[in-house]
Amino acid sequence: MTNHKQIWEADKRHWMHPWTHFESFQQEGSLILSRARGSRLWDSNANSYFDAVGGLWCTNIGLGREEMAETIAEQVRQLAYANPFVDMANEPAVALAEKLAQLAPGDINRVFFTCGGSTAVDTAFRLIHFYQNCRGMPHKKHIIARRGGYHGSTYAAMSITGKSGDRIAEFDYISDTIHHLSCPNYYRAPEGMDEQQFCDSLVEEFQQKIDQLGADKIAAFFAEPILGSGGVIVPPADYNRRMWELCKANDILYVADEVVTAFGRVGHWFACEEMFGVQPDIITCAKGLTSGYLPLGATLFSDRIYEVISSGDSDRYFASGFTYSGHPVACAAALKNIEIIERENLLQRVVKVGAYFEERLQTLRELPLVGDVRGKRFMMCVENVRDKNTREVFPDSLNIGKWISDRAEEAGLIVRPIVHLNVMSPPLTMDYQEVDFVVERLGQAILQTHSDLVAEGHLPAPSGAVAGAIS
Ligand code: PLP
Repeated sequence: MTNHKQIWEADKRHWMHPWTHFESFQQEGSLILSRARGSRLWDSNANSYFDAVGGLWCTNIGLGREEMAETIAEQVRQLAYANPFVDMANEPAVALAEKLAQLAPGDINRVFFTCGGSTAVDTAFRLIHFYQNCRGMPHKKHIIARRGGYHGSTYAAMSITGKSGDRIAEFDYISDTIHHLSCPNYYRAPEGMDEQQFCDSLVEEFQQKIDQLGADKIAAFFAEPILGSGGVIVPPADYNRRMWELCKANDILYVADEVVTAFGRVGHWFACEEMFGVQPDIITCAKGLTSGYLPLGATLFSDRIYEVISSGDSDRYFASGFTYSGHPVACAAALKNIEIIERENLLQRVVKVGAYFEERLQTLRELPLVGDVRGKRFMMCVENVRDKNTREVFPDSLNIGKWISDRAEEAGLIVRPIVHLNVMSPPLTMDYQEVDFVVERLGQAILQTHSDLVAEGHLPAPSGAVAGAIS
């Protein structure tokens, strides 16, 4: 298949993509990508784009690295696959497990390899059941998560997910033992509450849920340190730490879902402890672990949990795992990825350039449609609204985020649309000039979309001059 049109047609005919929206896919198909170098992508028509989404929050070191290609090729030559079940190991997986134990906070020293983020969350879910049963607390099984949280696409991970747009009626979910608290999004807090009051109300809500269910029934709390696809929501100051304090006080395991936030996205190997002062019991990670070069995830957990599950019954074994757990080629890629992040000081770079990215994106607030600009460092988002004062959003059917991202794409910039949001998570190599490019092109796309909306009658014509300057 060489012809662009043929590929585009075959894609529509045969590949059902994740989150396919059947009607628009049938009409518009997909952007067919064919090549990448660093943050730059080329489509099958040779158009080029700056990928401000980093694939899907994952191409942290940038694509097309020769030394990564060499590492992967060499590992394929050496040992392309190894059975991971108990009586066999392989060197890259062992080395990676040891490295992750060094990088993870506190006593998180145990590593269970998975195939990606959802299977890491699913494994955490099963590990929690296993742990509670092993310690003789079979009734302690309820899970608490948040509305707006995203945790993946297996049955358990999607049941823990609290994004209303993803939990659609045609699928079924576990509902009797999984509960969702409010989303810690201050932009959508009740009218008149300051941030501290909002935070207090969220912690109080958790306390009430514990009182209602009983601490002896609650096994774990799942939380992304910064909510990602739920809208890049940085919770109010001290929220994460206070929720963790409640977990500790009530013997509830704290699961930090760091599938997005780990491996440099916000300037740390893991965000939970360094950025928020939370020492979790379990961390789930994937994505930036290999920078998307190969699929890999991991469920990291504490020595305390390992101690409980590994003692007491000499016949016991952890009957869970995957053919591709600890895949040697994926683990070799992860080791090389970590080496590159260390050698190129990418964490420090994200702290420095990330401050500039935040500052420059904030200038978009002057534009029509832009209700909120939020996030941290290389994990940012613009929320588009119909009315900046009331924060009213456009109907979902207008797909405003997609409207803007289509305009941006025409101008050589990929930003991710999520209903009325535009989300960015660029490779950690982004420099100051690229920040300027992203902000300028996104600003122009927003202005163009605003003009389109006026022209098509979705918005009244502005009375004064529209803020046109993008500083
Ligand atoms: N957890 C979080 C926070 C995520 O953002 C994602 C994916 O975006 C997942 C879990 C699921 O990861 P995967 O798509 O690799 O299964």
